[in-house]
Amino acid sequence: MVVGHADEIGYQVQHISREGFLYIVRVGGTDVALARGHRVIVHGAKGPVTGVIGSVPIHFQTSKGEENAVKIHELFVDIGARSKSEAEKRVRVGDPITFKISWDKLGDDLYTARAADNRIGIFAAAETLRLCSQLKKLNACVIAVSTIQEENGLYGAGMAGYALQPDAALVVDVGHATDTPACDFKKHGEIHLGKGPIISRGSVNHPVLVEKLLKTAEKRKIPCQLSTDPRFSGTDADAIFVQRGGIPCAVISLPNRYMHSTVEVFHAGDLEAIAQLAGNFIAGLAVNEGLQVRIR
Ligand SMILES: [Zn+2]
Repeated sequence: MVVGHADEIGYQVQHISREGFLYIVRVGGTDVALARGHRVIVHGAKGPVTGVIGSVPIHFQTSKGEENAVKIHELFVDIGARSKSEAEKRVRVGDPITFKISWDKLGDDLYTARAADNRIGIFAAAETLRLCSQLKKLNACVIAVSTIQEENGLYGAGMAGYALQPDAALVVDVGHATDTPACDFKKHGEIHLGKGPIISRGSVNHPVLVEKLLKTAEKRKIPCQLSTDPRFSGTDADAIFVQRGGIPCAVISLPNRYMHSTVEVFHAGDLEAIAQLAGNFIAGLAVNEGLQVRIR
């Protein structure tokens, strides 16, 4: 099973004011500090509704820094409605909200986009499946899965892991690239864009799977970077790992800058390398490939 999650972080309409402004709650780990000044889409039953997250004009801000520490209940979305009843013609409490921002290319190899976390995971899963389909001989049955509700609780992955009961799961997600002035290698580890996929070690990452992935990478000359998941991975692997008495999992991550912002940045070559790594790993599997951990 090769997994990427389809959902993205955002907001949900919690309250519509008498004046027609929408008050919101977070879905997943959305950074409230980055919200104001963005265009958003409220996904209403009758179709998408464009809105903006309003802010206090700088001219009205009193003490320095005060206005920057905005709280979630102070954020509001303006959809151009003049009253609550007018707003309710287009949106309802509970409607999901996503940012209205597209992708761009940065330099030669880098891309910026919202929700690279984790559309790239679905791409990698689909591309892995495509690469496997080109092989003449394949010993494994490969299932590419696009899961739901990762950001708010890993729910879809738990369901898919239980239902499919795979012999092993490769979970593709984004990992923190720490090669920016905002990060400290000593605190966050050292991960660079363009130096290949991240292979995680610890907790939900099955040691035999991890070693097999690293061997595949070495054999195919796919550069990889290592990171740690000492307690959990924060990915779909956490939910799949515990199904059916335990499913061997490994997290393969795409180095990603500015996680959970609207300007996530990644390297296209790293993404292609993930599919290459997963495809070659699967191609190398024998019938009844043993994944037992040897106890010495
Ligand atoms: Zn995420």
